Amino acid sequence: MISFVLLLETLLARKENIYSCPPDRNLGNLQTLENNTSVMSSVVRTGAQLIRLRKLMASEVPPLAAYIIPSCDAHHSEYLASCDERRAFITGFNGSAGTAIVTAKEALLWTDARYFLQAEAQMDENWTLMKEGQQDTLSRGQWLAEHLDSGANVGVDPFLMTVTEWKSLKRSLDGDNIKLMAVKNNLVDAVWGLNQPERPNQPIKPLELKFTGKSWEDKVQAVRDVMKDKKADVLVLSALDDSAWFLNLRGSDITYNPVFFSYTVITQDKVYFFANDEQVTKEVVNHLKPEKDVANIVEIKPYESITGFLSSYRGKTIWLSNQSSQALLLSTLGEKADKSVNKVIIECSPVTIAKANKNSVEINGFINCHVRDAAALCNYFAWLEKEVPKGTVTEISGSDKLEAFRAEMENFVGLSFATISSVGPNAAIIHYKATPETSRALTTDEIYLVDSGGQYKDGTTDVTRTMHFGTPKPFEKECFTRVLKGQIKVAQAVFPTKIKGNYLDTLARLALWEVGLDYGHGTGHGVGAYLNVHEGPMGISWRPMPDDPGLQVGMVLSNEPGYYQDGEFGIRIENLVHIVKADTRHNFRDRGYLTFEDLTVCPIQQKLIDPTLLTQEEINYINQYHQKCLDMVGPLLREMGHQAGLNWLIKETQPIG
Ligand code: ZN
Ligand code: ZN
Repeated sequence: MISFVLLLETLLARKENIYSCPPDRNLGNLQTLENNTSVMSSVVRTGAQLIRLRKLMASEVPPLAAYIIPSCDAHHSEYLASCDERRAFITGFNGSAGTAIVTAKEALLWTDARYFLQAEAQMDENWTLMKEGQQDTLSRGQWLAEHLDSGANVGVDPFLMTVTEWKSLKRSLDGDNIKLMAVKNNLVDAVWGLNQPERPNQPIKPLELKFTGKSWEDKVQAVRDVMKDKKADVLVLSALDDSAWFLNLRGSDITYNPVFFSYTVITQDKVYFFANDEQVTKEVVNHLKPEKDVANIVEIKPYESITGFLSSYRGKTIWLSNQSSQALLLSTLGEKADKSVNKVIIECSPVTIAKANKNSVEINGFINCHVRDAAALCNYFAWLEKEVPKGTVTEISGSDKLEAFRAEMENFVGLSFATISSVGPNAAIIHYKATPETSRALTTDEIYLVDSGGQYKDGTTDVTRTMHFGTPKPFEKECFTRVLKGQIKVAQAVFPTKIKGNYLDTLARLALWEVGLDYGHGTGHGVGAYLNVHEGPMGISWRPMPDDPGLQVGMVLSNEPGYYQDGEFGIRIENLVHIVKADTRHNFRDRGYLTFEDLTVCPIQQKLIDPTLLTQEEINYINQYHQKCLDMVGPLLREMGHQAGLNWLIKETQPIG
């Protein structure tokens, strides 16, 4: 699955819409497609809620000339719980990206090219669409500076803006004497009232040491050592997956992401865990009782009490991440944001980096769950080969069947994202999600692209295979083979320790560039260990990731080049890989050299490969890869008695001559 960041970077960098109508990542249960007429036609009436919002703006002290409604939650998560879909509620537009600004007379929504059609179709006459990325579109800061009087106040919920976003907006308003105000109570919540969905509060569960490989006590110790080096007294974890990984806990507050709403604050002698009382089960309380060291006592506090808590550390050095909300910074520095009171470090959290460097138990978990995941895929592809010619399989019934095959596997918890099951022209839509209106039948004439993944207690999977159940056209085979060549180039790359991921991106594109083709998304994203399918801080994209600490042993990434022919077909080949030491003849400056090892062990369909475009080295790679798939997945399919899947695996792993 392509991360939102990788795709958005592409769109913003080129200031154009590369695809005909790429929708975005799934957002809760509402995936929106520009070609989905049922979604397109439903204009949402927003007059009444805008009147209520404007009344509240006027009654603030001082009154607000404008109120900003961002799309995120307080943890700046990629996926939102429905209670946090405030911007969708106020505007009627339910695409995943966009920011609304409401003034006494105007209501505006900024979104990017993926969503122009959808936003226009869903928003009523109260709203003006601001087309981001177009030359004559003012940025939010510019618009506010041009349209508001000097001395005006602009309000926003400080939980919904990161410290970095806040700083940049404030800078663009300061010159015009417009004040950015932190509004304590969220005004959209007040308008939404009783109709706002409740914040999810599913029980939190400990994850056993056999899956995590490191006790939370050991993680605390390691993080305290980094804090000492940095001279930080207090570290605040605000990303939901950071707290989950750090304390070896998992939840289910957000669809596809096994996380729960919480904050964690770490000092040299205490750990504070802020979570909703109802979610903290007895099991969790027992899990958080330290085995030996009294310094490891975890104090459990109510989720909301994070507000104001940090003020008890006046005079200390506090470490927040770039993704921490401005509310935490204000809580740290006080209302006046007096930096002389505290020293604040704003830098990628050491937990985010430790989480990305998987330990050997986590890597083994990844290896094992990928064998089960591949077995499910073999069963699915065998089933498709039998059923597709009958014309009875659709994009939706196909993805349901695949989920059922995955659900048979040990340690399966759920899907890691909404399956992208797409036929023909739908496959050219990068973040496609089939709906009853768009779902096409699988046929022997068109390419089928399926990007899917599972959450297993021992790891997270994300794999794309592109298949043809009839006879592919020569151009389709050429494109597929060129994508495959790029995929192999990345898989076989040898590179020095800690080079940034963007150095490798070109390798994935060379064979496409050679003939004037390319793809409009990044090549790889990090993946969590039974956590979020998109995990930072590193990635493989031509634009550097801001917090990329450099590639290191133990990191898990996707390797997913593609090619999309608008209106016709889409191709993507995606494997997860982990970084291992490379055996090189030399070792310049003792840096240590690294390479990738495939975690995904599902065959690549041979019918779509044109061997005349491959070098002998590439053919050897494919043959070795297929042998590995057969050796690792064959025994499990045999043991489970899945003969059809086994036969398919054997057929698809025959050496290319
Ligand atoms: Zn994927
Ligand atoms: Zn992916």
